Amino acid sequence: MGNKQKYIFVTGGVLSGVGKGITAASIGAILQAKGAEVSIQKCDPYLNVDAGLLNPREHGECYVTKDGAETDLDLGHYERFLDIELTQKSATLSGRLLSQLIADERAGKFNGQTVQLVPHLTGAIKDAIEEAGQGSDVHIVEIGGTVGDYEGLSFVEAIRDFATRVGRENCFYVHVVYVPFIQTSKEFKSKPAQNALNDLRGFGIVPDCVVVRTDEPAPGDIGAKIARFSGMAEDAVILLSNAKTVYEVPLTIYASGIGRVLERFTDNHIKPDLSKWTKLVEAQNKVYKDSVKIGMIAKYLDNEDTYISVIEALKAAAWQENVGLDLQWIDAEDTTDEELAKLDGILVPGGFGKRGIEGKVAAASYALENKKPYLGLCLGLQVAVIAAARKAGLEDANSTEFDEDTKHNVVYIMEGQQGKESTGGTLRLGDYEAKLKAGSVVEKAYATETTIERHRHRYEVNQKFTSEIEKGGLVISGTSPDGKLVEYVEAKDHPYFAATQAHPEFKSRPNRAHPLFVGLIRAAYNK
Ligand code: GLN
Repeated sequence: MGNKQKYIFVTGGVLSGVGKGITAASIGAILQAKGAEVSIQKCDPYLNVDAGLLNPREHGECYVTKDGAETDLDLGHYERFLDIELTQKSATLSGRLLSQLIADERAGKFNGQTVQLVPHLTGAIKDAIEEAGQGSDVHIVEIGGTVGDYEGLSFVEAIRDFATRVGRENCFYVHVVYVPFIQTSKEFKSKPAQNALNDLRGFGIVPDCVVVRTDEPAPGDIGAKIARFSGMAEDAVILLSNAKTVYEVPLTIYASGIGRVLERFTDNHIKPDLSKWTKLVEAQNKVYKDSVKIGMIAKYLDNEDTYISVIEALKAAAWQENVGLDLQWIDAEDTTDEELAKLDGILVPGGFGKRGIEGKVAAASYALENKKPYLGLCLGLQVAVIAAARKAGLEDANSTEFDEDTKHNVVYIMEGQQGKESTGGTLRLGDYEAKLKAGSVVEKAYATETTIERHRHRYEVNQKFTSEIEKGGLVISGTSPDGKLVEYVEAKDHPYFAATQAHPEFKSRPNRAHPLFVGLIRAAYNK
């Protein structure tokens, strides 16, 4: 690879939601498999400052990085695909850049200049891209939304102009477009894609590669037609139909010929070793003799993206344990013992707000009493603590998040945190260390004495009630190094009941399952 840093920009046309993020991550995976150091970044044109306050039903999960950035779920795809840990620098939102610009303007940093979208906002975008890419061979930048969206124009202009900064030969533009299949006439229609390419050219960007997404495999002449109308080399138009699973995309996109175009750009002619992906796809497509029924006690049943990292972590653990995963969605507002009894294992994921909370407490309580394997994540730990305290006789035990006036506030806002709870950005976020109790289930699972996991929560276990929590059947098996914060609880004499205040799902990788998830799947399998 040449010694000059390269940049790959991934934009979308026609529709959003056709796999731009997976395409960007897969391109990164291919380059990594060729030995390149890859970094990656998502630019989102929203006016939000981060993804922390976005509705998970609409936007899917809020992914948290090690340094505590609350980001779009695409960063989760990036981390899982590239097995790297990203930071705030990889999540660039208009709102963040604009609020900084306005603060700088108020602080008099512009010496009387007129502060404008061009060059000031576009300049800030270019700086953010350069900063996020520092140190890698290839930096990939995905622009959210579709080209032509009013709010995204500054990003499109910034990436166009970026080529002036670093040299056009160091920039590679990939446009991901969608080609629909019209059922009535049984043909693929390339017109919207051609228009989308015209739009992109209208903004001064001639792409180096077009990824044509289709639901079903499209005939090659569709690619040829798009190439002809957009003045591109035919082999720079890649046809990519729906893959069975996301982890197949590095393989399908490579097979579609993107390797050749990328080789021309990066001057790296090493054949990528994609065996990691082949193995993953095999694990995924395998027909398993047995499967485990894991019940996810969830609030958002209509958008799987809300729990995407948890689902991916469960899948990874099942693949590792060589067993099928039969994921059951249990409505937290309507859990019944009969339904819970049918499960091999119960998972209570993270969550905020009161809705569905009693169903989650009931699920934890059921698992505790009936020795059903249980994994609690964040809120899943808090409801387990509430269940144990109630079992020990504190009938009104609750978190002050759900009952402000409860006498037995077994989960509460700690001293010093009070009063901050209604605003964004006051959560305990990102990596925190924990020390595990010797001989505990979690210590055995992790096979280490200390852990570092990502966090995103506000309430903590109230250690004033430790004896009641223990009487109810749980032990505190991990705390912050100073002992002040409870990080793990588990049940004694139980096949597997572990809960963490953290979000271990963010550190699970498809080919390296997280030990706490492995513990659940294993116990559920051996029930
Ligand atoms: N709502 C709880 C808290 O703020 C749990 C958060 C979560 O599950 N991510 O502490």
